[in-house]
Amino acid sequence: MSKTFRMAMPARKRLALIAHDRRKPDLLDWVAYNRPVLVEHELFATGTTGALVAERTGLPVTCFRSGPLGGDQQVGARISEGEIDVLVFFWDPLEPQPHDPDVKALLRLAVLYNIPTACNRATADFLVAAPLFHGAYDRQVADHDSERAAFLAEKLKA
Ligand code: PGA
Repeated sequence: MSKTFRMAMPARKRLALIAHDRRKPDLLDWVAYNRPVLVEHELFATGTTGALVAERTGLPVTCFRSGPLGGDQQVGARISEGEIDVLVFFWDPLEPQPHDPDVKALLRLAVLYNIPTACNRATADFLVAAPLFHGAYDRQVADHDSERAAFLAEKLKA
């Protein structure tokens, strides 16, 4: 079994919000309904989703680029840097997207870094209702960095 390390998640969580176009109404409803909870946390989003959330709820949102223009990759990069704690990503199960590779890459990083991820409303409801959502939590992350460092050291010796 590979080694793991613990990554601290603060009580004030940093959430990334993303919804594909046909799922935006659902996400906007969810954010509006959970506004009293979400106001305690820090919101990030891909461009269009974030602009709509800010306009609809008045919550401050840090917006990245629009998803198809690189926003999903920006969220993935933040996850890899330990700067996003929770991903709420309402992707569209019925329509292929021009940026499907980016969607897959983002979901892959969310799993790799053990980020709580909600891809539908019921899961998002369970997430915000969970006691752990409101407190500090250390998530375990597989220590692939030291595997890569060992690989590099081996290559440098050769
Ligand atoms: P958007 O991107 O918020 O800019 O619409 C979402 C996505 O399609 O990834």
